[in-house]
Amino acid sequence: MKAILIEKNDDGQSVSVTDVAEDRLPDGDVTVDIAYSTLNYKDALAITGKAPVVRRFPMVPGIDFTGTVAHSSHPGFRPGDRVILNGWGVGEKHWGGLAGRARVSGDWLVPLPEGLDMRQAAAIGTAGYTAMLCVLALERHGVRPDSGEIVVSGAAGGVGSVAVALLAAKGYAVAAVTGRAAEAEYLRGLGANAVIDRSELTGKVRPLGQERWSGGIDVAGSTVLANMLSMMTYRGVVAACGLAAGMDLPASVAPFILRGVTLAGVDSVMCPGPERIEAWGRLATDLDLDRLAEMTSEVPFDRVIETAPKFLDGTVRGRIVIPVTP
Ligand code: NDP
Repeated sequence: MKAILIEKNDDGQSVSVTDVAEDRLPDGDVTVDIAYSTLNYKDALAITGKAPVVRRFPMVPGIDFTGTVAHSSHPGFRPGDRVILNGWGVGEKHWGGLAGRARVSGDWLVPLPEGLDMRQAAAIGTAGYTAMLCVLALERHGVRPDSGEIVVSGAAGGVGSVAVALLAAKGYAVAAVTGRAAEAEYLRGLGANAVIDRSELTGKVRPLGQERWSGGIDVAGSTVLANMLSMMTYRGVVAACGLAAGMDLPASVAPFILRGVTLAGVDSVMCPGPERIEAWGRLATDLDLDRLAEMTSEVPFDRVIETAPKFLDGTVRGRIVIPVTP
């Protein structure tokens, strides 16, 4: 089968498109013929070696895939079933989706929900499913469309684009934060009411700022998240899932203890199965598929390696799907 393979060498790592014997696939009770994989920020880190995402070598990257079950000894899946995989360490410590086939634990798979085809589910991918987990976190903490405006950072990226579209579809007013003024029209097309320059969230963090938003979805971390927290209205809620700006959080406790603000952490990788199924069910019903198409671009398998660094420059717009053939 064709695969992207990351191997360890004296200089660090090398990555190539290569043919790999299927008997090298790792253990698992379900084998899947992959239809689509995708590129996420984490895949870019793995392929470029810019962060220690890969825990075992050689590794097939790809934290996401959609495909059809070829063999299964798992009670939940039969040959012919169409499935989605996101996370669980796939593409990090277990061979991932950037290959013709994958062998995984059936416990990691989600059945393709009605209403989505395999390309659309891949276009949503880990980024979109994480955006949905963020929306669910806001809802769980009582945020509703009439609560007030919701701010989304990294809005032109993968998580951000899906978050803007999901919130807009539910009737929320959305303020989309971007470092790329040229993407303002794209963001309004996804449903953003306002487009805000990233610089408004990268200045010196005050313990409490002007109360601007009742909820937030943050992919950036660092100063962006700290400023967002300081600008929440009373009892506002921020769902934090990313570190595009940095791992640190130079914030004060003032928003928590004086405004009752909630910071909700979101992890997609080890998220339990029932919550994944809920998230995918909501994606199938809530996401406007025309807007999904608007944010999706396709990259051929052979051009994945040269495309990955674009994530680290922050120049990728929306979501990237990779059609996979054996
Ligand atoms: P993308 O690269 O598609 O999007 C990230 C966006 O963040 C960029 O497009 C850019 O948007 C913005 N950005 C880039 N650099 C900075 C910066 N220095 N300061 C502020 N904003 C910046 O990545 P994804 O959407 O796939 O992932 C976003 C983040 O979420 C990553 O950190 C990723 O690791 C994390 N993530 C976490 C998950 C989890 O389970 N917790 C799951 C999925 C992703 P713009 O130009 O519009 O400002």
